Amino acid sequence: MVALDTRLAPVIGDKSAKLLESALGLRTVGELLWHAPRRYATRGERTDLTALDDGAFVTVMAEVQQVTTRTMRTRRGTILDVVVGDGRASLHLTFFNQQWRERLFQPGRKGLFGGRVSTFNGRRQLTHPECVLLPEGGDAVDAEAVEAFAHELIPIYPATAKLPTWRIAKTIRYVLDLLDHVDDLVPDEVRAEHSLPTMDAALRLLHVPATPADARAAAQRLAWEEAFLLLAVMRSRREHLAAEAARPCIPAGGLGARFDASLPFALTDGQREIGDRIAADLAGPRPMHRLLQGEVGSGKTLVALRAMLAAVDAGAQCALLAPTEVLAQQHLLTMRALLGPLGRRSELDGDPEGTDVVLLTGSVGAAQRRDVLARIADGSAGIVIGTHALLEDRVRFADLALVVVDEQHRFGVEQRATIRAKAPDGTVPHMLVMTATPIPRTAAITVFGDLEVSTLRELPAGRAPITTHAVAAAERPRHAARMWERVREEVTAGHQAYVVCPRIEAAAGDDADAPAAAEQTATALRDGELAGLRVGLVHGRMPADAKAETMRAFAAGRLDVLVATTVIEVGIDVPNASTMIVLDADHFGISQLHQLRGRIGRGGVPGLCLLHTRQPSGSPASERLARVADTTDGFALAQLDLEQRGEGDVLGTLQSGGRTSLRLLSVLRDQQVIEQAALAVDAIFTVDPTLNAHPALAQAIAVREFELQDEYLDTA
Ligand code: ADP
Ligand code: MG
Repeated sequence: MVALDTRLAPVIGDKSAKLLESALGLRTVGELLWHAPRRYATRGERTDLTALDDGAFVTVMAEVQQVTTRTMRTRRGTILDVVVGDGRASLHLTFFNQQWRERLFQPGRKGLFGGRVSTFNGRRQLTHPECVLLPEGGDAVDAEAVEAFAHELIPIYPATAKLPTWRIAKTIRYVLDLLDHVDDLVPDEVRAEHSLPTMDAALRLLHVPATPADARAAAQRLAWEEAFLLLAVMRSRREHLAAEAARPCIPAGGLGARFDASLPFALTDGQREIGDRIAADLAGPRPMHRLLQGEVGSGKTLVALRAMLAAVDAGAQCALLAPTEVLAQQHLLTMRALLGPLGRRSELDGDPEGTDVVLLTGSVGAAQRRDVLARIADGSAGIVIGTHALLEDRVRFADLALVVVDEQHRFGVEQRATIRAKAPDGTVPHMLVMTATPIPRTAAITVFGDLEVSTLRELPAGRAPITTHAVAAAERPRHAARMWERVREEVTAGHQAYVVCPRIEAAAGDDADAPAAAEQTATALRDGELAGLRVGLVHGRMPADAKAETMRAFAAGRLDVLVATTVIEVGIDVPNASTMIVLDADHFGISQLHQLRGRIGRGGVPGLCLLHTRQPSGSPASERLARVADTTDGFALAQLDLEQRGEGDVLGTLQSGGRTSLRLLSVLRDQQVIEQAALAVDAIFTVDPTLNAHPALAQAIAVREFELQDEYLDTA
């Protein structure tokens, strides 16, 4: 008998096991049984032969129509040509020197044919396909293979040329016969509530369903299992984190109140509420783990700064980790500007009650670095802003209590561990993660399930609306020319503009369709459409100090127009910038465009964003741009992004909390499953946080954590 964690080789033989591993990455009985059918064919089913894609590996059910054998002209040998069809379309099966097969293909006989689709002389064909002819007339070709078709529903598995679906089916049936009873992780009452079959039944029904409803219930149960285990893993991490100690930050003076009073605006309700939650978290003895998400420009930075001041007021230090040098620089400027005298205690005009804000990045010079490191070490720098440079060994904090991470998805698990280790012995820092990429809720709980989520939903008052238009340059060249006139008008009115390009520089072999490059665009604009304006250039391949200098010049109004790549995507804050032109905008993702346009409309000046494209109107690309133009709700756009790009792409860019482990669960399709599983997990942990009464679940979580660790090491 075998269990889910039994290795395949001893069960099915080395040769088959090797094939399953190399073709599909399946190594254990459990992995094999989780290899779910893509769909189920019925015996009478006719595959739509008109819908076969060239190059695709397909399995079709069709009827033999015509069989001919001819000799090859240029070489010795024969070609067996079998036409199979479904009444509407036909497909050729081509065999070289296999005349003996001819007798197997009697016209009228049905079979399953699997192979890679190609086109030859304008005809669609499968060359040397795998064939299983159904037993009509009783002369089975392969008795074992045909046995797989004794049932009503025939599972069609994701397969490869070397490993056709019926071979997978045969192996799975063999293994299912040997499988010991599989225990359930999901408690009986939860299964009852949601009418879920037992795991043992589900695994069998998935592969050998009697009815389509069986198959659906089985797939649902497996998705549930995944959601349940993943959320339980996240929840148990939270329980572990909650058992750690953090330095309680109880503000001693009135730093926060003085800062609030110094602001030229009132906090939004969301900023105040989330601020209160954070203050309460920070005052406690357990580490905070909070994700702060919100629309671009919703005022997250301010929330983070108020949190940092609370820590500083308690005599502790904070670190703000930014993903790039440009962003770290920008944060420094923003924080200093917002803090005023409170942010420069050791300077002449500084406030002695305040603190010092320092910057540490890779490009900080040696002398300054020594000074900064010393001030981090002696605690006089209360707010330390930096990039990965902050993670280095020689960075020693006197009393690190709070870490703010900007754009979590560019920080890995390991970096998180490194920064945690910089808090005083016996404690871990409070963590606040800011993300401007709105994440649909179900994705958030699977990816960031170990964090509590706070969302800023409203934009601060005084934020002017942004109008977005798609500009179809190919069809309306006049509109394209008008874009640049609009830029001139804005500059004349005293505002500034961004021009965003998909690439840094043009390549030698570029044709006319190649996407706009920042370097060439800047030059062309200076000499052409925007002659006379002060046009700057910034992109990721420039040296850090040159980048920073250009950004400073733009922020200070010494440049009218900034031609840039997506380096300006997050965090850059120049309130006077009113206009953004995105060239070849179809090269950007939906969320990315939304992110980009958040750079404008920040200073009470209405923003104008023009999404230029050379794609024809009506094309999917230009439809996408139209949606971005029509919608300002970042969450709706994130959902759309998820639907269009597929979750692998979207989630792949987010820090993984076990994403690679998602097999059948789809954060898109299975939103309801995830929500239900989240409630079930919550109920269990609320009553039994240490899982004493749920040993099987505790064990499964431990195994999963171990596997995730492994996956992480594999990909690091
Ligand atoms: P985010 O980090 O969420 O993109 P920011 O914190 O950078 O947003 O805020 C965007 C702009 O709005 C900044 O110029 C900031 O000073 C300003 N701002 C923040 N909170 C408020 C508020 N409550 N009222 C008015 N302006 C605000
Ligand atoms: Mg910000």
